[in-house]
Amino acid sequence: MKIGDILKNNRVTVSFEVFPPKQWDKIESTKKTVREMSVAQPSFMSVTYGASGTQAGFTLEIAEEIRDSGMTPLSHLTCVTSSRDKIHRVVGDLKSAGVENILALRGDIPEGFEFPDTEHFEHASELITEIKSLGDFCVGAACYPEIHPESKNRVEDIEYLKHKVDCGAEFLTSQMFFDNGAFLNFVEMCRVKGIEVPVIAGIMPITNARQIKRSIELSNCSVPEKFYKIMERFGDEDASMQQAGIIYATEQIIDLMANGINNIHIYTMNKPAVALQIMNGLSEIIK
Ligand code: FAD
Repeated sequence: MKIGDILKNNRVTVSFEVFPPKQWDKIESTKKTVREMSVAQPSFMSVTYGASGTQAGFTLEIAEEIRDSGMTPLSHLTCVTSSRDKIHRVVGDLKSAGVENILALRGDIPEGFEFPDTEHFEHASELITEIKSLGDFCVGAACYPEIHPESKNRVEDIEYLKHKVDCGAEFLTSQMFFDNGAFLNFVEMCRVKGIEVPVIAGIMPITNARQIKRSIELSNCSVPEKFYKIMERFGDEDASMQQAGIIYATEQIIDLMANGINNIHIYTMNKPAVALQIMNGLSEIIK
């Protein structure tokens, strides 16, 4: 099924993200994770793509497992280090596997990297156009409620975001955030600037204090005082931190829904217990 159709009619959706393993011998374990999460019947499940593009087969294998577990797969695809030919091959493989949804991303630029030639895509918008020319895919793109780290300012960031939508992105999935106010302001600004497609809120349940440090460094997102206090109090006790992180994420989702946001994407970090507990906490709300 196309994600564009799943997101129609303002229905509440909750989807999951998983990442493929770094080594092939862990693939069965990741597939098991996917099957365990399928019990919660997420609206769709996405699988990330390695920044270097060298493990495209791992992403495809997991997308197929998502499909075989009765869920709609969304395969991520990055372009920064891949040639046009490579992109064509990967998109062809996705098409053959019946994967209809692709999240088109640039990927982070490796240090010292120079775009070698016109056979490489410099921006996600170019990748979106290319994928659209290769088949009947539903294509999504990434967005950043607290601005992409390379952007000069919010206005410029939203202009480029609008360009991605104009190139064919049918939905946007956000970078994680902990401050709902930042996300709600961002969605409002998107609407003012004429971006009408669904903006899916990316929620990262933080279940250990080490994870949050790394996640914040990578994402550039602000952390509310309330969440710092939770980390200070429970950060050294893994089980307590996990419970607090699940409850914080669940409350964050409920608050977003109360403010009219219907589409939620959970960065599960491949932890079925975390994903299932959040879904449990929302069971009546998302019925
Ligand atoms: P772009 O949309 O190309 O934007 C990158 C920067 O360039 C922004 O500052 C933008 O404002 C600017 N820009 C855009 N267009 C232009 C233009 N025409 N001219 C000048 N500047 C422009 N990474 C992975 O490696 N694998 C994944 O699976 C993955 N999944 C992700 C999923 C989500 C939901 C998110 C939010 C991020 C994900 N990332 C992933 C990280 C992502 O690849 C990085 O954040 C990357 O730095 C930017 O990718 P993008 O698609 O947003 O790039």
